Amino acid sequence: MMAAGRAGESGARVLLLEKNKSLGKKLLMTGNGRCNLTQAEFDDKEFVKKLNDKKAKFLFSSLASFGPEEAIDFFEKRGLKIKIEKTSRVFPATDKAEDVLGVLVGYLEKNKVEIIFGSEVLDFETVGEKIKAVKIKHQEEVKKISAKNFIIATGGKSYPATGSSGDGYSWAKSLGHTIVPPAPALAPIKVKEGWIKDLQGLKLEDARISIVQNGKEMEMKRGEILFTHFGLSGPMILNISKKIGELVKNGEVGIEIDLFPNLDATGLDGYIQRKFFENSKKEIKTFLGQIFPQRLADKIIFLAEIDPKKKLNYVTKDERKRLADLMKDFRLNVEGLMGFNQAMVTSGGVNLKEIDSKTMRSKKINNLFFAGEILDLDGPTGGYNLQIAWSTGYAAGENTAKQLK
Ligand SMILES: Cc1cc2nc3c(=O)[nH]c(=O)nc-3n(C[C@H](O)[C@H](O)[C@H](O)COP(=O)(O)OP(=O)(O)OC[C@H]3O[C@@H](n4cnc5c(N)ncnc54)[C@H](O)[C@@H]3O)c2cc1C
Repeated sequence: MMAAGRAGESGARVLLLEKNKSLGKKLLMTGNGRCNLTQAEFDDKEFVKKLNDKKAKFLFSSLASFGPEEAIDFFEKRGLKIKIEKTSRVFPATDKAEDVLGVLVGYLEKNKVEIIFGSEVLDFETVGEKIKAVKIKHQEEVKKISAKNFIIATGGKSYPATGSSGDGYSWAKSLGHTIVPPAPALAPIKVKEGWIKDLQGLKLEDARISIVQNGKEMEMKRGEILFTHFGLSGPMILNISKKIGELVKNGEVGIEIDLFPNLDATGLDGYIQRKFFENSKKEIKTFLGQIFPQRLADKIIFLAEIDPKKKLNYVTKDERKRLADLMKDFRLNVEGLMGFNQAMVTSGGVNLKEIDSKTMRSKKINNLFFAGEILDLDGPTGGYNLQIAWSTGYAAGENTAKQLK
């Protein structure tokens, strides 16, 4: 939408082919329906650093023309009130993704972009190093549409029901591009412990997690954790999922959750002893339920093999130690990442070395441009991924039109 609108605004006659019956199916789901439309990080170097990937420097040029500041300005100028929340996440003041979509639809209309809904692009027809036409299926009919330039912005493979089923990768490949294998990123983690379903829905505001492989800590993060019926989720987990996905390929991965990150092991032991003394007549179940959500407390007691009805003054030293150990290292074993159906973005995609970072033009096919998640780029949660789509889309649109002149 950004690419098509900008191409129109820059003077091109534009046709947008969308296989769905409406625009922005995924956009409407973003930010839980609120659309975290960008990240208020106005220093391009810092923005790129957050993507934690050397090749992200590809974005410098497109961020310089249309970065978060320009994106905010773009939406505000078109009547969308913006608010910036904690960790610099930018949302529409109305908390409605449909208002973001509304601006883009208005942008397309204003710039006279023609749209054919329900038109599934099937293939491209090339002559030499140029695309001549695109083949589409529309209302059960296969048609050819010719154009001077083409932009592929079909997204990744995540949430395929929204339309992004990875079609663009095979076209790009057949057009001579290499594809870095697509993999789920920003995906919830599935664990081996079946009992995790008992904790479904619990949220811990402040936990520390260590990702461990072969007894070595590979990564450590502190923040919010959400338990699901299959494992773990929440922004911190999603952001670390790409790393976990890579580690799992090499062998077993453990997640140590420190449920008491403010105290070290000795400090925690002292704390527990003092609390046990002060609450000696309480059952352990009641006591621990005052520290943790009850379902988590019950699970810790179960894993520590302590009778939940035991009064604190009867809990043995060994039992107390098992309890403290579990509070510092609530261990889960990773089964893997949840697949594309639940991954918010796709890592991998069209190899960036084969695309000109200033114009988004293919270095293989002269009249082809790429934009958005189909590129081998992805970012953490916080508005980075939509900003990648805005920046690359804007550059692709503008330069497609320039090439016509
Ligand atoms: C649940 C969820 C929440 C998210 N929340 C956020 C968030 O708050 N902030 C953020 O920055 N990012 C978020 N993301 C990521 C963000 O939505 C994507 O990175 C972004 O939408 C990518 O834009 P895109 O235009 O490249 O691809 P898409 O938005 O996937 O659009 C691709 C379009 O191409 C069409 N298409 C595909 N194949 C064909 C074909 N063969 N013929 C015709 N049309 C075709 C599809 O129907 C689709 O409309 C979220 C993702 C998900 C799944």
